Amino acid sequence: MKKIAILATGGTIAGASTGPINSVYESAKFGINEILSEFNELKSIADISAEQICNIGSQDMNEKIWLKLSHRANELLANDKIDALVITHGTDTLEESGYFLTLTIKSQKPVVITAAMRSANSLSSDGAMNLYNAISVAACKNSANMGVLVVINDEIHLAREIIKTNTTALNAFASPNCGKCGIVHYGKAVFYTKSLRRHTMRSEFSAKFCEDLSSLQNLPCVEIVYDYAGASGEAVYSALNLGAKGIICAALGNGNLSPNMLHALKFANSKGAIVVISSRTNSGIISGDELDFNKLNFILSDSLNAQKARVLLMLCIASGFDKETIKEKFNIY
Ligand code: ASP
Repeated sequence: MKKIAILATGGTIAGASTGPINSVYESAKFGINEILSEFNELKSIADISAEQICNIGSQDMNEKIWLKLSHRANELLANDKIDALVITHGTDTLEESGYFLTLTIKSQKPVVITAAMRSANSLSSDGAMNLYNAISVAACKNSANMGVLVVINDEIHLAREIIKTNTTALNAFASPNCGKCGIVHYGKAVFYTKSLRRHTMRSEFSAKFCEDLSSLQNLPCVEIVYDYAGASGEAVYSALNLGAKGIICAALGNGNLSPNMLHALKFANSKGAIVVISSRTNSGIISGDELDFNKLNFILSDSLNAQKARVLLMLCIASGFDKETIKEKFNIY
């Protein structure tokens, strides 16, 4: 039987509602061992050990916890006695945590994140089946060397691609650019695609993380600003006042910028901040056909949304890369 470690961080999958048909609930009320003790079926698919990294709603997720989570994941995966890892997480910031882990975990072993849209004691909660499926996918040999995977709602997604697209629906998660990479039905997993973007074992960030960046306590300050019709651009100036080394703009459509936002970002660039343009549309690549981004000296995020682009930029700045090198990394990761 495969040996699978679970790292639990909280979220709705560990949440408690005030009653089975009441939508009001609190995230992260149950510890992972409480959840597992209710769930004998899991014992038949793997030999499971579990640890609580934190117990929070993922709205409280932050870089310190990312660093702790990634270091512990790397430690466990380096151990011959562990075959795979499952991480439980809230749905709100799962997409950026997942991308952070896909860039910083140095292992070919399966790593699967799961979550839930309904709290653990809600009527028809999705958490138990998602956890069962996640453990089954982690135990599956085809999950190795896929980068970090996300299992939710009977689907398997690449952590680089998945985003939360809905506030409450059970099918809130999607990968708009590539689609899901597999399906899992009552624990039986089938895969259809894999990522061509660099991840885990081949990610230079994971190597750095396990070596010269292993004592890193913080990540560089990178802020996100959101563009809209008639934007003032003030958010850019306050990001600079905060000491931001990088600014990600969730720009309009295919990377277009409203006049004040363009002006503010040019100013940020002139002050040495690295400006990355993503799109508030949440799907598609930025080809930037209306503005000359080379001349502006802004970097394009490829298909990463703002929150994922922020993760890559933070890791690039932490690695000491110059702007030209960072530009290349957005085409590789
Ligand atoms: N706020 C919760 C969280 O992200 C939502 C969820 O898990 O579905 O932890």
